[in-house]
Amino acid sequence: MTNYETVIGLEVHVELATKTKIFCSCPTEFGKEPNTHVCPVCLGFPGTLPVLNKRVVEYAIMAGLALNCEIPRMSKFDRKNYFYPDLDKAYQVSQFDQPVAVNGYLDIDVDGQTKRIRVNRVHIEEDAGKLVHSDFGDYSLADYNRGGVPLIEIVSEADMRSPEEAKAYLEKLKSIIQYTGVSDVKMEEGSLRCDANVSIMPQGSTEFGTRTEIKNMNSFRAVQRGIEYEVERHKDVLATGGKLIQETRRWDEDKGVTYSMRSKEEAHDYRYFPEPDLVPVVVEEQWVEEIRSGLPEMPDERRKRYVAEMGLPEYDAGVITASKSMADFFEAAVAEYKDAKAVSNWVMGDISRSLKAEGLEIQDTKLTPAHLVAMLKLQEDGTISGKIAKTVFEEMFASGKMPADIVKEKGLVQITDEGAIAAIVDQVIADNPKPVDDYKSGNEKAIGFLVGQVMKLSKGKANPGLANKLLKEKLQ
Ligand SMILES: [Zn+2]
Repeated sequence: MTNYETVIGLEVHVELATKTKIFCSCPTEFGKEPNTHVCPVCLGFPGTLPVLNKRVVEYAIMAGLALNCEIPRMSKFDRKNYFYPDLDKAYQVSQFDQPVAVNGYLDIDVDGQTKRIRVNRVHIEEDAGKLVHSDFGDYSLADYNRGGVPLIEIVSEADMRSPEEAKAYLEKLKSIIQYTGVSDVKMEEGSLRCDANVSIMPQGSTEFGTRTEIKNMNSFRAVQRGIEYEVERHKDVLATGGKLIQETRRWDEDKGVTYSMRSKEEAHDYRYFPEPDLVPVVVEEQWVEEIRSGLPEMPDERRKRYVAEMGLPEYDAGVITASKSMADFFEAAVAEYKDAKAVSNWVMGDISRSLKAEGLEIQDTKLTPAHLVAMLKLQEDGTISGKIAKTVFEEMFASGKMPADIVKEKGLVQITDEGAIAAIVDQVIADNPKPVDDYKSGNEKAIGFLVGQVMKLSKGKANPGLANKLLKEKLQ
């Protein structure tokens, strides 16, 4: 049986977070009543003229620079003609042969290896409207609020060789764009959308096989699953002597399959031609340098800084910097509490877990860096034990109350009074003759169990160090 190599290229659409649309002053806000954010320009009425939103070009250049692209001195807009109900003008303004940014790259880490994935181009285009398919009859409704919302399309080279690499690329891309602030990159709201070109070729070959394009994958998991499915389908077709055809396929998340949308034979001939209503965009060197100097620190740079300056393990630094909001939270906490590893442990542990359980981002919660720092200080000065800290954390995550107030309200102050702990220790010794014997006959580990019993009996409030010390003294 032939061994195949997988070849993947991704096309990622990112909605830019400008306040107004690309060629008119309609708002870009998501989730409003259908067809309330429209005007003659974005509806493509005859006789109207587009006026380019300068911020769109600035954001696109910013994204291009963050992806290590070259910014050509001139770019221009073209009409991409096709007839589709959600495209009100029957053409889309896009960039064909002179995009705003070219020849970039980003680095991904898979299985401990860093790999460079080339970015072919970043071009600007306008979004189409949206069809709402009716549950009640054989018709669809068109909502043009999204029509004319600015997009950039980021096209990679076919440099990825596995679904894992594709997922890593997309995650890294999302992170970089999030850092630049040019988009909120929410996949669930469609501000980050991904299409994948997939093909397979015999191991060692340099000639790519017939590729298919998968659309409609709207989560990282879907991207990975969709590509995995498609690779297996290609192998099956070839193994049974079939022939692959170049086509566009749609990913069905529920069924976990791709199905054919249209084949190359019926594919659209877009008949691109230069947009006559817009002049070419001249990008002065100085403007690019201004934008470059305004770029924030990118995730890779931040990761390196955390390792070099804070002594954070490479792994922790990678996880924390993947999300800008998480990295900002972390840095604000470290500014007030110097033990970076202690902060990192909470961020990567309980905080990440709670966020995942609630499906939230850190900035959407009541938890602030000040909460975390106050809690760490209470633990450091012995007011609360590590175990109580977990209880305090849950409460402050849920209610946003400050840890000192929670400790006071719930009477969670750690017991550091030797006499009080000694009484509990006596009871534990009396209640657990077997472990006590074990310890006395040389099994050091039994002490751990006994300390655990003291903690349990004190509802987590005993100072574990004192409990340990007293137990050992009494069992000598
Ligand atoms: Zn408009």
